[in-house]
Amino acid sequence: MEKFLPFALPDIGEDEINEVLDSLRSGWLTTGPKTKNFEKQFETFIGKNVEAFAVNSATSGLHLALEAIGITQGDEVITTPYTFTSTAEVIRYLGADPVFVDVSPDTLNIAPEKIESSITSRTKAIIPVHFAGLACDMDPILSIAQKYNLKVVEDAAHALPSTYKGSLIGSLQSDATVYSFYATKTVATGEGGMIVTHNAEIAKRCKIMRLHGISRDAFDRYTSTKPSWHYEVVAPGFKYNMTDIAASLGIHQLRKIWQFHEKRKALAVEYDKAFADLPLLLPSKAPGEDFHAWHLYVIRLQDQRMSRNQFIELMAEKGIGCSVHFIPLHLHPYWRDRYNFEPEDFPNALHAYNNAISLPLYTKMDSHDQERVIQAVQDILK
Ligand SMILES: *Cc1c(COP(=O)(O)O)cnc(C)c1O
Repeated sequence: MEKFLPFALPDIGEDEINEVLDSLRSGWLTTGPKTKNFEKQFETFIGKNVEAFAVNSATSGLHLALEAIGITQGDEVITTPYTFTSTAEVIRYLGADPVFVDVSPDTLNIAPEKIESSITSRTKAIIPVHFAGLACDMDPILSIAQKYNLKVVEDAAHALPSTYKGSLIGSLQSDATVYSFYATKTVATGEGGMIVTHNAEIAKRCKIMRLHGISRDAFDRYTSTKPSWHYEVVAPGFKYNMTDIAASLGIHQLRKIWQFHEKRKALAVEYDKAFADLPLLLPSKAPGEDFHAWHLYVIRLQDQRMSRNQFIELMAEKGIGCSVHFIPLHLHPYWRDRYNFEPEDFPNALHAYNNAISLPLYTKMDSHDQERVIQAVQDILK
């Protein structure tokens, strides 16, 4: 049998490897010139004069963003149960509570029309998650936020590069947008994340809190004209800074983003064609000319003859790795028990999960790899 085809793989080239070697030889292992360059490059990429702050994960970035907008004990933050636990755990870090709003059954993004009825006097913010790389319907979300004076922090872990009505996610009117560079994401640095904001106050707070609440980071300290030993602690901050080793990867990954995107899009188009006549619900497409980032290609099984789990086992027998995105948060013991959730509390999330399968989709797949996946799916469902 052929080699097992994994569900996901990063695409690290010689440029990334040489840049890491250059960092190692330079002696800058922690936050330094490469991190600054990566941030500048990210700001240029998003445009609209945003500021970008590199961090060691999207989880850290979401935590910093929520801290910066003032989320505190007793607040409520609206988000989706159809996400990774990071999105909601950061709300708990600050002593606040997530309030889950079910997803739309087609897009698997938070259903904007269900948000308003979940707003209480304690609600302070909304965290939309652009599931799989398909942008949430941001206009109604932003207008609800404006109407009720709520902040908006976008979880854009899947959304690089995604657009909404022609604008890149990250350049909209939200308070902050957070990206992930985890090993499986569309731009990978192993571990890493980026906070993007057009709000100078939020930017300043994130920058300080990402490194111990120190008012100047190590790089500034060693390069400015002030005495190099001097710094001031202005808050009990965190240790969330990105290393120059990670930034070395990010600089080259971001340069290849459109090349990566074309590859992912082509794989998605190919899957759509091959699966059109099978008992599957195919992923929702971005409307009009907008870009779906295609971080994930999630099919939903519509075949009464077998379960999602059986399907994944049969794929594994054929040497193909699959995954499931996501186990809705309200089904996990912590969230279920803390808020007394029942599975049917979020029926769209539950039913999507029961049938969802993420197929391999990544830039290192060649046409033969994809043909193997297609053949396996067709064999199983024919
Ligand atoms: C991956 C992911 C995160 C967390 O990203 P890290 O960089 O691993 O912290 C957050 N939200 C979603 C939706 C994710 O998929």
